Formats: sequence, C-alpha cells, structure tokens
Amino acid sequence: MATYRAAQVPTAGGGFEIVERELREPGPGHARIAVEACGICHSDAGFVEGAFPGLSFPLVPGHEIAGRLDALGDGVAERGWQVGDRVVVGWFGGSCGHCKQCRQGDFIVCQNLKVPGWAYDGGFAESVVAPADALARIPDDLSPADAGPLGCAGVTTYNGLRRSSAQPGDLVAVLGIGGLGHLGVRYAAAMGYETVAIARGADKAELAKELGAHHYVDSTAGTPVAEALQALGGADVVLATVGNSEAIGAVVDGLARRGELVVIGATGDPMGIAPLQLILQGRVVRGHPSGTSQDVEDTMRFSALHGIRPTVETAPLDDAEAAYQRMMSGAARFRMVLTM
Ligand SMILES: [Zn+2]
Ligand SMILES: [Zn+2]
Repeated sequence: MATYRAAQVPTAGGGFEIVERELREPGPGHARIAVEACGICHSDAGFVEGAFPGLSFPLVPGHEIAGRLDALGDGVAERGWQVGDRVVVGWFGGSCGHCKQCRQGDFIVCQNLKVPGWAYDGGFAESVVAPADALARIPDDLSPADAGPLGCAGVTTYNGLRRSSAQPGDLVAVLGIGGLGHLGVRYAAAMGYETVAIARGADKAELAKELGAHHYVDSTAGTPVAEALQALGGADVVLATVGNSEAIGAVVDGLARRGELVVIGATGDPMGIAPLQLILQGRVVRGHPSGTSQDVEDTMRFSALHGIRPTVETAPLDDAEAAYQRMMSGAARFRMVLTM
C-alpha cells in the first residue's frame, strides 16, 4: 500500500506529529499533488489553535502549497492539466460554484470557500488532493520554495495593491516589513508607486531600501506615523500588513484626501478610527481577501518577470513543529517554508 507522510495536529493546540497516511486517489474534478514545498503563514495559528469555526482534528494545515500533479481525477485533463505540471494551491483552495458570489464570478468571497487545512487536508504533507479550480500554474523560473508563499502572502499583497485605487506614481505606504510586508514593498515599487515602508526601528531602514522603498518611516522614532506620511504629501493608499490594530489605526490621518486604507493584517482587535477621520477627506477603509487561483498565477508571473522572490528559510517536513514555532515567534526572515 502506497503511503505518504504528513505533519498533523492531533487536537487543537496539540503540537505537530509526523504520521503515515494511505495515498488517496483524486475524485472527479480533483487532482493529486506531490508536494515539494509549503509555506507557513501566520494564519496557520488559527488552524493549529483551533480558532476558526468548523475545523476537524486531526488537522493538516498548510495553504501555500507548491508541487507537481501526480494523479488526475475525471475531467481534470479536459481542463488542460497534465501529470507533471508544476502548480501552487494557496488560500483559495476552490469555490463552491453555486453561492451568490460564485454566480457573480466573485470567487474569492465564496460563502463556502475551500481553504486547504480547513475544507480538506493542507500542504504540511507529501501529498495533497485539491479541486482543479484551485490550481495555479508555476512559471519555469520559480522554485517550489519561492512559489508556495506566493499562494497566500504573495497574492494577498499583490492583489491588495493592484485592486486598490493607487495609480502609478501615487504615494503608497506598506505598513510592516514581515511575511506579507516584505513582498508588499517589492510589489509596490515594481508597480511604479512612490513607495513608503513603515516599520519599527531605525535598523530596518536599510532593508526597506533594499526591498525597493523610496522612503522609510520608523514608527518608533517619535514623529507620529500619520505626520510622517503627511510630510510626504499624504498616502494615496496604505497597505496594512501588520496584525496590530493600534498601528493600523495610527496611519489613517496619514492618508491623502480620497486616500484608501487596505487592511490585510489579520487580527480580531477593534481599530480606533473616528468617523470624522474619514468623512470630510472622503477616505476609505477596506478589507482585502487574498485572490483566486488566476490571481495567484498573475502574482507568480509578475514576480518572475520582475525578479521578485519571497525571502524564505526552509526546513524539512520532520521539523514542522520547530519551523512553525520559529515562524510564529517572528524570528523567521521572513517566511518559513517546509520542504518535502
Ligand atoms: Zn495565509
Ligand atoms: Zn461559492
């Protein structure tokens, strides 16, 4: 009997254990992926700790999956996929096709979105079975460890920027230089925005410049971040990648008139924003959800074209627990990626 290895969480908050599982055949409309790499995302904590509703344990997280197709269910070849194709499956792990948003073609806000690790076992494993509509083709010059994180961290920042109101030349600030933000700064610069990186500490200034930022704002320097942004003319868009409501709220007065705050840093804490900070200036605060498999493909093509790669540290699947702890502690620069 053919088996594969997976890093599973036996119960909520229970820590990872490596198990052998029986290899599954993909059903109709599904494909099996021989996983080569899978990124560890901060939102994986929501899976591991059992914080999301409707999770079932034991659970295999992982929604930054990169690998090769090694078996196709009925109807998948007809969609243009072949065994051996290199693919990513990200946060968008497929949509239901029948809810109102799917019928409107807005698949990323599907009411029954199938997130790997939630709707089905995710990529902290040597094998994953996923619906064909979740597959994104990897360009030749991206490695699996570079491609995986683009399925969540990459597409969320890339799409968050390109779906914003920012036009080339506009002042765009990226709040935070972490797993999301380090890609956000690179994308913002490559998209032609006058790019501001905002982070904590003078020591990040050099990193911000290396990532392509034209300006750096040290949020610990004493001058309020909003004031620093207004000194640059006011931000047309701020992409908030930190999961820190106080830091997010502090940029609002740094927005230009008609400026837009795009929130992708996940946290449950309320943001202290007064209506009067928004009304007269016509400012917008908006949440942004990731992107579909086509958006992931667009993200990877843009990244390959502009030589943009996530900065990653890799660890073998066997070290899933240590790699997960390193990612969550904030010590990783900037994405931990498990390799199979
Ligand atoms: Zn994620
Ligand atoms: Zn749907």
